[in-house]
Amino acid sequence: MYRTHNCGELNLSNRGEKVILSGWVHKSRDLGGMTFIDLRDRYGKTQLVFNMESDPGLCAAARKLGREYVICAEGTVEERSNKNPKMTTGDIEIIVNKLTVLNASKIPPFTIEEETDGGDELRMKYRYLDLRREPVKQNIIHRHRIAQEVRKYLDSQRFLEIETPVLIKSTPEGARDFVVPSRVHKGSFYALPQSPQTFKQLLMISGFDRYFQIVKCFRDEDLRADRQPEFTQIDCEMSFVEQDDVLNAFEGLARHLFKTIKDYDLEDSFPRISYDRAISEYGTDKPDLRFGMKINELSDEVKGRGFNVFDKSEYIGGIVAPGCSEYSRKDLDGLADFVRRPQIGASGLVYLKFNRDGSFRSSVDKFFKGDDLKQWAEKMSAEPGDLMLILAGDRLHTLAALSELRLEMATRLGLRKTGKFKPLWIVDFPLLEWDEETQRYYAMHHPFTSPREEDLDILETDPGRVRANAYDLVINGVEIGGGSIRIHDADIQKRMFRALGFTGEQARSQFGFLMDAFSYGAPPHGGIAFGFDRWVSLFAGSETIRDFIAFPKNNAGRDVMIDSPSEISEEQLKELGLQIIKKGI
Ligand code: ASP
Repeated sequence: MYRTHNCGELNLSNRGEKVILSGWVHKSRDLGGMTFIDLRDRYGKTQLVFNMESDPGLCAAARKLGREYVICAEGTVEERSNKNPKMTTGDIEIIVNKLTVLNASKIPPFTIEEETDGGDELRMKYRYLDLRREPVKQNIIHRHRIAQEVRKYLDSQRFLEIETPVLIKSTPEGARDFVVPSRVHKGSFYALPQSPQTFKQLLMISGFDRYFQIVKCFRDEDLRADRQPEFTQIDCEMSFVEQDDVLNAFEGLARHLFKTIKDYDLEDSFPRISYDRAISEYGTDKPDLRFGMKINELSDEVKGRGFNVFDKSEYIGGIVAPGCSEYSRKDLDGLADFVRRPQIGASGLVYLKFNRDGSFRSSVDKFFKGDDLKQWAEKMSAEPGDLMLILAGDRLHTLAALSELRLEMATRLGLRKTGKFKPLWIVDFPLLEWDEETQRYYAMHHPFTSPREEDLDILETDPGRVRANAYDLVINGVEIGGGSIRIHDADIQKRMFRALGFTGEQARSQFGFLMDAFSYGAPPHGGIAFGFDRWVSLFAGSETIRDFIAFPKNNAGRDVMIDSPSEISEEQLKELGLQIIKKGI
């Protein structure tokens, strides 16, 4: 028998009991005639005691144990004289009378403690050891709990968990596919799903009514910090629903998760803000609503006064930083440097201080006098003591830069509180996006998203203005999920493919199966997918999804532990009918 108890459960009520524990040697200390070992397993740590006087042989054996040895110890539970209130088992210790070494361990390449000396690369190479560390282990347990709550809630709402295949054909989520060569059908390839989009729609056509899956998706996108080529979605689809039905259903899921995981009550109904409004008021379609500081446009107020920067700009707008009128020259220079960073890209910053005595002071005093400045302050609802920060340029870039400035000021002012959660839906996305480079429209969401009915008649004549029945859930500035009401009519689907520049033949060869399915009684349907990794990190108050994935890839898309991607043998290549063209040829 390896154990009667685990290492996290014994307490004073077990005093005097004979127990057997198994686990890893976390730490050992020799104090004169006594040796103490913290024995660790998934559930916690328990102190083992070996006494030189009463059992010198055993104590000598204990002294030989290295960190991370796997041992089995038998002994009696005793009350500790020196209690440790920080440990759940801190009131007791085990006086050991039998010790078995189950496995030795090499010295680990980094210390297996809450705080480790191991760098990122090293920890990833030995991820199985990193996972022994308490905070990393807790992250994985936290992920498990959320997955269970998702299942519990969706099951209670009659969603069925149905698996969909992984070896499929291209799905249109806008990224590149990972492909898998077929040995049996040489020269042919499977694609890994960018999402189960087409399958979940087919399941609605099959009549399953409500589907979900916690599922791996694969997208071969350019690498960016904290992006994983394979990631997990909570993927859902519902039949006979309109947009509001979907939003209400998933507000329910969000409320359930916040309540069960964080004991946090989200508001009864999440605000629903149109894409256009989000862009003009927050400069982004992922606004952080934990604070106000909306963007105000000033173009009408400031143009035509001889200030060249404003006169030649398409758009001028700003935000009000409350209580910041006393910012020093140095603070303001710092902000100007911030907005000029290449990733933000503004050319400069205009400021207007609304001093506490009611006077104004601006960086454009030469061009604008008291009354003008008062008008700006009114337009922006600034109060004495506030600082107005204004940017100018082309509309969308300037709004995007203002969005960054808004977040930066909120961070400086401590307005992005970690314990506060502000969800909202962004709705009325444009259906299509024009791409200058390829000179064609792309689906902003994906090609199965339905246009708003009232915009259908301009789909051919003014495609850029068509709005979609699409929505995103955003919490604290993070896009948590997105979806749409789908097209369920074969004719509209054909028109959509045409708007996207597909010929009838291309559409048939790629999505013929779906168009066929639409001709056998497709119910109206819609759905959503949530980035599960994001949910998990959001709940833990972290921005790094990698910390919540048991075996993540690094920022270069590599798994350095198993060394993947890697080359395959000549024989495998031959079997697959593949030939590698070496770099530089
Ligand atoms: N398939 C979509 C995505 O992965 C989500 C959806 O439309 O349900 O973003």
